[in-house]
Amino acid sequence: MERLTIIKCGKLYDGIHDELQENMQILIRSGKIEEVTGSTEVPEGAEVIDLSHLTVTPGMIDAHVHMDYRDWHRIREEVYQTSEEMKTLAVLNCAQKALAHGFTSVRHMGNINAFGYGVVDVRNAINQGMFHGARIICAPLSLCTAGSHGDASQSYAGNFRVSAVLQNMKPACGCGSDFFVNAVREQVKYGADFIKIMATGGFFTPNDTPLQKQMNDDELEAVIRTAHELGTTVTAHVYAPEMMQTMLKMGIDGCEHGSLMDEETAAMFEEKGAYLVPTFCPYDEAVHYDPEKLKDKQPEFRAKLELYKDRLTEGRKVIVNSQIKLGYGTDFVANHQNYESGWEYDAWMRSGMDPFRILKAATKTNAEILGIDSFTGTIEKGKNADIAAWGRDLLTDSGALLDCAFVMKDGIVYQTESGSDL
Ligand SMILES: [Zn+2]
Repeated sequence: MERLTIIKCGKLYDGIHDELQENMQILIRSGKIEEVTGSTEVPEGAEVIDLSHLTVTPGMIDAHVHMDYRDWHRIREEVYQTSEEMKTLAVLNCAQKALAHGFTSVRHMGNINAFGYGVVDVRNAINQGMFHGARIICAPLSLCTAGSHGDASQSYAGNFRVSAVLQNMKPACGCGSDFFVNAVREQVKYGADFIKIMATGGFFTPNDTPLQKQMNDDELEAVIRTAHELGTTVTAHVYAPEMMQTMLKMGIDGCEHGSLMDEETAAMFEEKGAYLVPTFCPYDEAVHYDPEKLKDKQPEFRAKLELYKDRLTEGRKVIVNSQIKLGYGTDFVANHQNYESGWEYDAWMRSGMDPFRILKAATKTNAEILGIDSFTGTIEKGKNADIAAWGRDLLTDSGALLDCAFVMKDGIVYQTESGSDL
């Protein structure tokens, strides 16, 4: 049976115009947006959802989540204290919570803890209507080399037998261009929507540095070429500017973090049209230097944040002042739960980012990055009715995206949940 719904919006950000339009209404027919109008007419038989006290936006999108663990406080223990099945259930839990927080789509950036493809099954189960939850676009396993940021066994390098066993459990960890050609093909075979690589070291891993080059040029080139041959895209975990430049020249589609950005590299992003998902929040205590808050961090993570704080601060400025195509992503593995995606809004606002640029990143641009912009990311005729609404002022209140007041995905309304303490 055909369903007709009218949403009355107090204010409307449609993902296209940098403005909040007043007194608009959205007509939805069987899960699709049919009309966005200033008219107040209600067609016969239409159900009216009155959001005239709220700001209505497209359903938000988080372009950088890791969904395969339950609680970030125990993220390292969960690697082997929980089964693959439990890790898969954690993915489902994250997708359901993300939806309840107003995020109708998320991009899974490689497992942190799981060694298999449970995220693909959860993605498919949600798409088939078996469970409700945010729509998932996924790279199940990130491709990486031994001892790299993507090799979780790095933390156990002090016991090489244990570490070797763990390293061998991860199928996409290896060496040489042939290995990586095959690894890309395997990821696609088992259901990857895109390819994620670990190009440099990281902040959260104990024994490497964010400047360390962890894949060589042959390996990088093999991944990017093979992914493009198969019609998919590649993004990289990367901090070092030289490494970003190398990959941009090879035609990589986008990068994650990029936190040590410099002017020259930013200009190359702009010229190539490649996107960056800068994930500000995890480095915030270093950028807005707060030694008290840094004390709570896990020791190796804290030491690196201290060491790189000036470069992180400089890189943040370069990113904010650039014209790079920015996506909104959180990467919460060490400071918030993986579905509390609204925290990143606060980090962008406090870095001086224009709120409309953040909103566009989290909607229209992210839909493009995820490859789902043909049917979501904006509120306009023909798109799926993925819609969220917020009670707090998105233009002035940096915590506004933590308090979702209404969420609809594909025209169906779901229960919201608020986790804000900001
Ligand atoms: Zn990440």
